Amino acid sequence: MHRRTFLQSAAAVSGLLPLAARPSFAGLYQAAAVATGDLDAVRGDGRPVTLPASAIKDLAASLRGPVLLASSPGYETARRVLNPSIDRRPALIVQPTGTADVRRAVSFASAHGLLLAVKCGGHSFSGMSTCDKGMQIDLSNMRGVRVDPKARRAYVEGGTLLGLVDHEAAAHGMVTPLGTVSHTGVGGLTTGGGFGRLARKFGLAVDNVVGVDVVTADGSVRRGDPTENPDLYWGVRGGGGNFGIVTNFEFQLHPFSGTVTGGEVVFPIDRARDLLRVYAEWSQKAPDEVYVDFVMSQPPGGKGGIALLHVCYCGDNADRDLAVLRTLGTPMANTIKVQRYVDFQKSGDYTDARTMGEYMKSGFTTGISEKLISGIIDGFEPHPARSTGVFTQHSGGAIGRPPVGTCAFPHRHAQHALMAAVSWKVGDDGAPHMAWAKKYWATIEPLTSGFYINEVNDESRAVLNANYRENFPRMVAVKKQYDPTNLFRLNANVQPA
Ligand SMILES: Cc1cc2nc3c(=O)[nH]c(=O)nc-3n(C[C@H](O)[C@H](O)[C@H](O)COP(=O)(O)OP(=O)(O)OC[C@H]3O[C@@H](n4cnc5c(N)ncnc54)[C@H](O)[C@@H]3O)c2cc1C
Repeated sequence: MHRRTFLQSAAAVSGLLPLAARPSFAGLYQAAAVATGDLDAVRGDGRPVTLPASAIKDLAASLRGPVLLASSPGYETARRVLNPSIDRRPALIVQPTGTADVRRAVSFASAHGLLLAVKCGGHSFSGMSTCDKGMQIDLSNMRGVRVDPKARRAYVEGGTLLGLVDHEAAAHGMVTPLGTVSHTGVGGLTTGGGFGRLARKFGLAVDNVVGVDVVTADGSVRRGDPTENPDLYWGVRGGGGNFGIVTNFEFQLHPFSGTVTGGEVVFPIDRARDLLRVYAEWSQKAPDEVYVDFVMSQPPGGKGGIALLHVCYCGDNADRDLAVLRTLGTPMANTIKVQRYVDFQKSGDYTDARTMGEYMKSGFTTGISEKLISGIIDGFEPHPARSTGVFTQHSGGAIGRPPVGTCAFPHRHAQHALMAAVSWKVGDDGAPHMAWAKKYWATIEPLTSGFYINEVNDESRAVLNANYRENFPRMVAVKKQYDPTNLFRLNANVQPA
């Protein structure tokens, strides 16, 4: 997926901070310990609450990982998410080193009724993983992967970024399908669904989770799998962070050659309409081994716009299965080549400075009709001060095979995830750009069917509820059972009542 084409912004993703650069835990304990005053915070229901200094001190003393307050080293990095237009300041941040710390932090948040944010990779566009005046649990000290090649399993800690899973699995000639940018968090990506370059072949990330350890709102840790707490296992796979914090994921692995044929064919933006027509037809009938995204991107100023097809092929007859690419005419650039999957997975990583604000609308399609093509192309407007982009993520194939009730993820009908994004210079007023994106999307939205909860933004409760489709009643029941006070509410939230 080519979010980077529009959303180029982040070099200093907090999760990428090397261990050596992290402040020492001892120093951070001290930071919490020297906090002399009580702390003003907010509860999940928005009411103010005062946290006594003694309670924070006790919390810090009970953890192996640090508690960060606004004055602590590391606080500024931890509170941020990838989208730099999100600027929130938690009252306190806990960085657990393991499940025991997560349990203590959750129990503390629960006891004080705190607004609680959970951060893994920090890629939530709408900034669900940070908050103002609540508690953030930042899982960035919980990153690790163990592969059991005989059992074909990967055991992945809840704060891990997906590139590490790709890397460790590849060393055993295996893979599990995750997302397309190596520094996206496994935690957020997987609990929401998890679309990636191999999902048409091997299914969504949720379809490859065979077990989870979850810290629930009462501070206990529970196993979720087909036989133990099956409701929790069901809900965590598509219900986002609604039911608790996953401290460990167990993924099934697939034998995999480790190489793919991948890259992009790039054309000037005036080819967008006919490229989208070719894409609409090809993406619908291609074999599961073909993954292809359409991207249309216009930088600020109205010049230099491009339209491209981004391809990842994991079969063994690229000449035959990618033949359509030879009918498109001469591109401005063609980067398609045989390459290591783990390298291709890093090709969309951000390397530039975090200078752009971002906003996005998204929805699933059941196909790309001529009407949808007109909506996408005719409404697209260059602007002097923003980047504008439309892109798809190819779905269908193995994604659509499990029945809808298999897990909480309900959008098995999706043939594409369609996204429209704007970005602008941080410091500029983002409001007109967001307003334009909403207006543009208003024509497209009726031609989509549901949306990805990992791209949740400012949707109403009714819209969110309806988006869980026929799975909604079971979502409510599971929420009632595991999070009756709605401690975990910063997500595509399901209310327990
Ligand atoms: C550059 C970029 C590329 C992307 N590419 C893809 C893609 O290819 N495929 C795709 O499907 N999506 C993609 N996304 C969307 C992505 O799935 C969501 O943004 C997702 O929420 C990111 O997860 P995270 O852990 O990085 O996010 P965070 O911001 O850290 O967390 C988001 C939410 O996830 C929940 N959460 C995080 N960790 C846990 C955990 N351990 N247990 C329980 N809940 C948890 C919390 O509710 C949290 O609010 C992309 C986003 C970006 C910015």
